[in-house]
Amino acid sequence: MPAPRLSQSAEAARAAAAQAEFNEKKWVWVPDDKEGYLAGWVYNEDGEYGDIIMAAGGEARRVPLFILSKMNPPKFDRVDDIADLTFLNEASVVHNLRLRFGSGAIYTYSGLFLVAVNPYQNLPLYSDAIIHQYRSKRRDENAPHIFAVAERAWVNMGEERENQSILITGESGAGKTESTKKVIQYLAAIAADVHQGPSTPSHSRSPTITGSQSLTNMPSIGLPRTNSTRRGQVLTNSTTGSGFALTAKGRLGLLERQILQANPILEAFGNAQTQRNNNSSRFGKFVRISFAPDGSIAGANIDWYLLEKSRVVVRSEAERSFHVFYQLLAGGSGIKEKLLLGGGVEDYEFLNKSRREVDGVDDREEWNALKAALDVVGFSPSEQFDLFRIVAAILHIGNIVITSTRADDAVMPDPSQAERVCHLLGVPPAEFTRAVLRPRVLAGREWVTQARTGQQALDELAALSKTLYEKSFGLLVDRINQALDRPSSKSTFIGVLDIAGFEIFDVNTYEQLLINYTNEKLQQFFNHHMFVLEQEEYSREGIKWDYVNFGLDLQPTIDLIESSGNAGAIGILSCLDEECIMPKATDATFTHKLHSLWAGPASDPDDPQQNHPGRDKYEPARFEQGFLVQHYAAKVEYRTDGWLEKNKDPLNDNLTRVFASSTERYVSSLFADHVAAPIPGAQTPMFSVGKKRGMKKGAFRTVGQRHKEQLASLMGQLMATQPHFVRCIVPNTNKKPGRVDVPLVLDQLRCNGVLEGIRIARLGYPNRLPFVEFRHRYEVLTPGIIPKGYMDGREACRRMIGALELDEAIFKIGMSKIFFKAGVLADLEERRDML
Ligand code: ATP
Ligand code: MG
Repeated sequence: MPAPRLSQSAEAARAAAAQAEFNEKKWVWVPDDKEGYLAGWVYNEDGEYGDIIMAAGGEARRVPLFILSKMNPPKFDRVDDIADLTFLNEASVVHNLRLRFGSGAIYTYSGLFLVAVNPYQNLPLYSDAIIHQYRSKRRDENAPHIFAVAERAWVNMGEERENQSILITGESGAGKTESTKKVIQYLAAIAADVHQGPSTPSHSRSPTITGSQSLTNMPSIGLPRTNSTRRGQVLTNSTTGSGFALTAKGRLGLLERQILQANPILEAFGNAQTQRNNNSSRFGKFVRISFAPDGSIAGANIDWYLLEKSRVVVRSEAERSFHVFYQLLAGGSGIKEKLLLGGGVEDYEFLNKSRREVDGVDDREEWNALKAALDVVGFSPSEQFDLFRIVAAILHIGNIVITSTRADDAVMPDPSQAERVCHLLGVPPAEFTRAVLRPRVLAGREWVTQARTGQQALDELAALSKTLYEKSFGLLVDRINQALDRPSSKSTFIGVLDIAGFEIFDVNTYEQLLINYTNEKLQQFFNHHMFVLEQEEYSREGIKWDYVNFGLDLQPTIDLIESSGNAGAIGILSCLDEECIMPKATDATFTHKLHSLWAGPASDPDDPQQNHPGRDKYEPARFEQGFLVQHYAAKVEYRTDGWLEKNKDPLNDNLTRVFASSTERYVSSLFADHVAAPIPGAQTPMFSVGKKRGMKKGAFRTVGQRHKEQLASLMGQLMATQPHFVRCIVPNTNKKPGRVDVPLVLDQLRCNGVLEGIRIARLGYPNRLPFVEFRHRYEVLTPGIIPKGYMDGREACRRMIGALELDEAIFKIGMSKIFFKAGVLADLEERRDML
């Protein structure tokens, strides 16, 4: 057929022209405050300075040469895998992502990562036909996609009988939860095929992902590929992306539907509208889907982390509380009366001080969806009522009015609000009121009644609301797991981790420390994994490689945070725990103690605290009460006010005892682990740290301790899996399609480890070519070196390298591939183009 041939040669001519133009000049990326980087070329170099002509506008700039980054030749434009770029620098990374994003390719690989840029629009990338396109295909046979990651996990699980994990991180609004849903949808669809036979979507009508026609015809470097038209994604049809859910749903069994329906429940109770994301997850989760040996879904299990319970009480004015509050008030007409809820959002103090609606969301419809999901997962009407009982009780608690006497003793002028709360929660109003206003506390060896100030009583109610909500959330997840989890020794799982990425705000506090600590551990896990894989590849290829394990780089910072003091240094979390049980400790004494532990004068070189490498990662804050930690991503300043309270979960013992003996079973079960034997007046510790003999597991742990344990358990599980890494990127802060704010994207690439991954890749030999491909591409550069006829690939390669006169340090010849340092291929390409 003449037509495609013609267009192919036209394309080749265009590519050649672009390359020729590129070769004429020394192209570079010039840093720019607003744009991130701008293209330019060097027309003069003198000493350490260069004169640059900017590509857009032709303006001249004089800049120090070291700030410039080399630009990749145009044939590298839009490569599927950033690791294939010959110049691996930040500018080229974002340039590639931006180019691809501009043509609808929101997914790009970067070595072990899949980078996903949030498109903020529904793209037809997730239909049944696309699922079919990714089924049983290798990563290099299709354009990059979240489905390819799910497919690979599934195949590896089946072939190697090994558990898999998919770790998804990114900033708020970057698309982690959407990506998680896509993974689960893909797995549910292909697992359903196991039983019912694969669906056969009609390809003639369905949209498919095809290559971008404008791509140059350079065969990809590093990854074998059958042809070059598979790169990039050009959307050939505008069918919406929801096709999958509609068509596949009909084929799913009850368990699969229950797994999919668990999500709207979790989102109603755990998500909220924020400035960054209208449906922001305010907790982290690890969802494991387990599969029977035949590939069908055997069950699922959800672990959750760090619910932002303070949102129940306060939040910034532009944000909402958890969705369920608004959904219940808008839609729950059937049960509102029983919950004594007469009003709307405006009538409840915990809701009416901030935003009340989300654009484009109908809370009544969402309520119906929530109810339907609860039904599917199997919550009985009374179980559902219990969930809403807590939600309603919290709204009533928020409306309790507290005033103060002249002596500043707290009083509750109108008992009717408290009575509503007590009615719903099954506790006696007199005891509840006493526990809030005049609790009994231990003074020395005696129990005495202590009058509370108005503020103290209000704080107590706030703490109660937060505790109730978090505990109920915990039971909700337990109940979902009860419905989905069918443990079996024969099954294997794919776990999906959807957890907040590294956070650096204007003011960083305890929550940021915990999340950044989590990310430090996850990054260490990634680095170590990459190290192991590289190590394996080099040893398979018989190449000597003696780099240190880059996973170890992060250990000093991790120790600084988590060391328990048992065998050496006392880390930040343990120090905080210790201060929490000191009688007169304050946030200030805690901060002071930290400084003396990690920044004080080092007089004894044998002291494990004083010679700990973590000391280099710590600095006292200069202007605020706080400290700075050097994380892998950046140095972050933490302010320590409120940390003692945040760590303790300060609910008074009197209140927990009242609720532990509630007549409502659901309520008493929420507090079951708080008070083992609720004997009034008995001497139970207000609060203690560490395990006590005979104490029930789960009781009286600090927030930090609990997170450390949960994280250790998560890391243990991840370590026993084959991991896959997804990094979500938010392209702009306006939630708008088509816009890329380059500095914003760069910041994220720095925080999410993609640039770190590239940094460590550069320590080795990031570009690699099989001998055959190397010979095929570059034999033209070494005419007459290889005799006609057969020659062993390795030998041919060795001779060619000899003739090319490459420096020993920039390449390694393995058993089947040749490895190059970054930049070498560009040089070879250029030499080839000069011919
Ligand atoms: P948070 O940390 O706040 O929970 P997140 O990373 O989980 O953020 P998502 O809730 O997944 O972010 O995504 C935010 C919004 O971005 C979604 O509600 C959706 O509108 C849009 N979005 C994300 N990914 C996609 C996608 N692949 N296609 C279309 N829209 C998307
Ligand atoms: Mg989310």
